[in-house]
Amino acid sequence: MQETKEAYQVLLYYLYTPIENPTEFAQNHLAYCKDLELKGRILIGDEGINGTVSGTVEKTNQYVKDMQANPLFKGIKFKIDQADGHVFNKMHCRPRTEIVALELEDDINPHEVTGEYLNADKFREALLDENTVVLDARNDYEYDLGHFRGAIRPDIRSFRELPQWVQDHKDELMEKRVVTYCTGGIRCEKFSGYLVREGFKDVGQLDGGIATYGKDEMVKGDLWDGKMYVFDKRISVPINQVEEVIVGVDYFDGTPCERYINCANPRCNKQILTNESNELKYLGSCSHECRVHEDNIYTKRHNMSEEEYQERLLLITDGK
Ligand SMILES: [Zn+2]
Repeated sequence: MQETKEAYQVLLYYLYTPIENPTEFAQNHLAYCKDLELKGRILIGDEGINGTVSGTVEKTNQYVKDMQANPLFKGIKFKIDQADGHVFNKMHCRPRTEIVALELEDDINPHEVTGEYLNADKFREALLDENTVVLDARNDYEYDLGHFRGAIRPDIRSFRELPQWVQDHKDELMEKRVVTYCTGGIRCEKFSGYLVREGFKDVGQLDGGIATYGKDEMVKGDLWDGKMYVFDKRISVPINQVEEVIVGVDYFDGTPCERYINCANPRCNKQILTNESNELKYLGSCSHECRVHEDNIYTKRHNMSEEEYQERLLLITDGK
């Protein structure tokens, strides 16, 4: 008899909406999610909700229904992916000052100021318009796995570094039409608002983010290259249904690669794209410093003797 695998779904969603007493709300919402046997991460702030959860089709559909019926979350949109199982190990629901950490001294409320919302079609037009600058609002390692063709890559490792990057590049961008995008749209609501407040005249944002663009029946993810980075066990998901282009390159030898590992030195923890043989060769570490760091977990993880470790180190003769 063939074993039937139960179908799962992954939900990605957010809403900027005032929530009173986020701490209490988060506690109750956690209990509710656990009842539904969901797993994932939800942030609750007095500015709204930001979540991604996995569960069975039945339970996730129930969650969507309940949330949409709640007047507090009127208008909330869900991006839904099919999955073979949970994509998280645990269920977390935590109160936060911000539901995406931009950490501005003077925070942005997207209900007061934000960029023009562009649907998939309008965003695709922007990609093709040579007078428009398309700015990726995500982190460098997200961009490196996949991005819109021709988009600018700010070299930032976290969202809170983005305002400073803008300050450093203001002269090049100020007089142009600037359009931004991120995974699900939540970062851009704040970030595009920030650009408007900083005096940018013509600012647009991809409504619903890359996730929505990839599911649009007309554009079908066109002009997206590589895979989209996601913050769960899957790490990457496909977006472009028209053509497949790999943009990720192996950190060590520059060959095409879409496989991420974390540097085996937990103090560094840098995400590097690399294939299995290079991970083996370079002991899963991004540099010599990380490889010989006292906290490096590679040898422990692979039950490697000190002798073998020393031999393996000697085999690495190039710069990495
Ligand atoms: Zn490292």
